[in-house]
Amino acid sequence: MTHFHILALLAFALLAALFRNAECDYTPCMRPGGALLVVWCLIPLPVSSATAQSPHELYDVINNLRLDPAATYELSAANRIELRRGDVEIYFEEGKLAFLAPLDGRVTGFVFSGRGHALAFPREPVEKQQMAHFLGAPVLDQEFLSAYVRFTDDAADDLLRQFHSANLTPQLDTAFASLSDPFVAQFNVSQSLRILEDRLSQNPKPYFYAALEGIETGAFDVLFDPQRREQILLGQRRKSGNYTYYDVWASYSVPGSVPPPVDFHAIDYTLDTAVLPDNSLDATATVHLRAETSGERVLTFQLSRALHAETVSDAQDKPLAYFQNEGMNLQERSVRGNDYLHVVLPQPSQKGQEYTIHFHYRGNVIEDAGNGVLFVGARESWYPHFGDQADFASYNLTMRWPRHLKLVATGAKIDEQSSGDLHIGHWRSDKPLAIAGFNLGEYASSSIADEAHTIDVYANRQLEQALSNRLDAPDPNSLPSDVPFRMPGGNNRSAMQPPNPSPADALKQLGKEIDSSIRFYEHFSGPFPYRTLSVSQIPGTFGQGWPGLLYISTFSFLPAEAQNRAGLSSARQEAFTDIVPYHEVAHQWWGNVVGWSSYRDQWIDEAFANYLALLFAENRKPSEHAVRVWLERYRKQLEEKIPGSDTTEGEIGALALGNRLNSSKSPSGFEEVIYGKGSWVIHMLREMMRQPSAKDPDARFVALLRTISSKYAYRAFSTDDFQREVEAVMTPAMDLEGGHSMEWFFEQWVRGTGIPRFRVEFSTHHTDKGEVVRGKLFQTGVPHSFIVSVPLYANNGAGHNILLGAVVAAGPETSFHFTTQIAPHKLVIDPQMTLLCTTEQMEKTQE
Ligand SMILES: [Zn+2]
Repeated sequence: MTHFHILALLAFALLAALFRNAECDYTPCMRPGGALLVVWCLIPLPVSSATAQSPHELYDVINNLRLDPAATYELSAANRIELRRGDVEIYFEEGKLAFLAPLDGRVTGFVFSGRGHALAFPREPVEKQQMAHFLGAPVLDQEFLSAYVRFTDDAADDLLRQFHSANLTPQLDTAFASLSDPFVAQFNVSQSLRILEDRLSQNPKPYFYAALEGIETGAFDVLFDPQRREQILLGQRRKSGNYTYYDVWASYSVPGSVPPPVDFHAIDYTLDTAVLPDNSLDATATVHLRAETSGERVLTFQLSRALHAETVSDAQDKPLAYFQNEGMNLQERSVRGNDYLHVVLPQPSQKGQEYTIHFHYRGNVIEDAGNGVLFVGARESWYPHFGDQADFASYNLTMRWPRHLKLVATGAKIDEQSSGDLHIGHWRSDKPLAIAGFNLGEYASSSIADEAHTIDVYANRQLEQALSNRLDAPDPNSLPSDVPFRMPGGNNRSAMQPPNPSPADALKQLGKEIDSSIRFYEHFSGPFPYRTLSVSQIPGTFGQGWPGLLYISTFSFLPAEAQNRAGLSSARQEAFTDIVPYHEVAHQWWGNVVGWSSYRDQWIDEAFANYLALLFAENRKPSEHAVRVWLERYRKQLEEKIPGSDTTEGEIGALALGNRLNSSKSPSGFEEVIYGKGSWVIHMLREMMRQPSAKDPDARFVALLRTISSKYAYRAFSTDDFQREVEAVMTPAMDLEGGHSMEWFFEQWVRGTGIPRFRVEFSTHHTDKGEVVRGKLFQTGVPHSFIVSVPLYANNGAGHNILLGAVVAAGPETSFHFTTQIAPHKLVIDPQMTLLCTTEQMEKTQE
């Protein structure tokens, strides 16, 4: 039968797509952690056998479910069978459908092979735009050939009702079952834990998942899961270059739905971590949590897969059942980029009750970059971490490490002693932390202290191997083509080359600059939140701003000559020298004090951190006009086409998409959109609030930032909160729509895509009152509903721009007229760069 054949082939494709174990999205994000809130939840099922079996026994039963050969249905085009979840419709038009054997009388899945059709109609513009970006149309409309479907909701009952109405009866089909079972066995692992959680909860949240083999798209996922804030997820794994991405086509909540409750909250962490001579970790963690709801048994921690949990136990040291990475929710992982450890409580939670969980785990998250340069791998959860970026807790850290190394960590250092070959140090958080980190190496260090805080800068004396090689290799382009690349004698260092610099040479200077950036930022963001800031070097090109601890790329420690030799463009050199370290410093407030609410809000902290870094760069060297130079660069970047595509970087998607901007279609989308457009958005707000004639023209902007940083300290800050805070200080000129609302701004610039392009046509005629300038402003590149206030200047040909006024562009064409004293030769659109737009300047059309 062709159905079997198709199923077999496609199941391979699905498996390949679902279980590919490649690295996920590389996020150049400069904050640790991810985005989506993961709360596991459960479904109403008989509790009897759940209490009789251990969680692992029950898990094995669920995981070993196979097709029931006697529950196979032959579907024909005459009786179209369908399932609807939210606004997603799945039609099973023709083929075979076989149920999995029931679990305590409840069916939790089926396999389909034949022909079907999936439809979805997201309503939100940002989701429609993403659907169009990935699928070429703003709706999902895909035929599929096979399906693996799992659920804890009533999908089976729903289907059986439809089969009954259509007079379809079950048939025995052992061939279909035995052909499908190997694939079922391998697919199950992705869903078994989710089903187990519903079985163990007293408040289950029934879910539905379908892996469909689309004819045009290949394998894709449809998920409807009330334990996610956004219940509906459509997307697929897709490879681009050497990386596999999870392309989220759409993720949204069903209108009228309420977000799932937060079940637990972590109160404090006590971490005792030994770094062994081979750089592996042997560690214990004690996490103290409070139940915020009743009836839950499963707690989900993030823990790197590189660390193996040896034991998990409760306050009385009784072992607790746990699952490490079994059935990892692949969609979530690809968005979050982390691995999970699920711990099962022996009894359902009681609201308000506190729980203590002990962990012992071992493994290696420390990378060796050569020449004694070590670092803690990016994005690894090196301890069991509960909750998301806005879950603040207190931390007690004990670190033990080899004596020849220096180790830095988040929190205030209490003490450090040596014992045999080890150093032992203690750190305690003096402010609530959303996350804790450490770094280590054969560091040299330098300190600057005043009464308020201490800055310690740590750097290796040697360069990491890869960079050292790069600096040693003479530029092949500068050699005649007949000279072999490698120099005689195996030494490929040119005699003319200066010696390689030591990152440690930059310690003092970098410390001074970082200290002055803290003073600069305190004006905007309030007092520096911590007693110490440890600045540590990290190989590679990324940085991270942990609370009280920075990872700064080696490149930021190098002089221009060495950066040049390493092949950095002048813009990249400027970025590493003038922006990156200070962007990370600004995260001390923006990200580590003001948390973000969901992945849709992460842009705010990145945009503030980056824009403040631009302001600091301009403040350091005013003649270099950093704000202008970088905004111009970002604008050009946003206008550039993604390689191999007709889409510009600015059209990838909205700021509010956060990590979803990194996809197979735009591997560096996060960086391009969030830093570039995000900085512009903050700049536009600042410009709109600016009072040029006031003593401090930025007083309103500064007040806004200080209000946010104190009002939202140690909690989540959302885009809606941001809009409300801007509305509280907005000027009448910002009220383009009326109603004292900034909805237009956030809708267009944060939840919308597109950069407006302007062109102006005008004529002048002389009157008694002066020169009357009449014209039209043409707007393209954005939806017709896009409104924006565009400053127009008159230029008399002598190079001087005189402000005529602002035209509120609404739609493709807006008429204007001004009276002025000089006859302009041309009109100039926004020469002060207050607006993210592109322009075509036009000479006057007639006298
Ligand atoms: Zn950042």
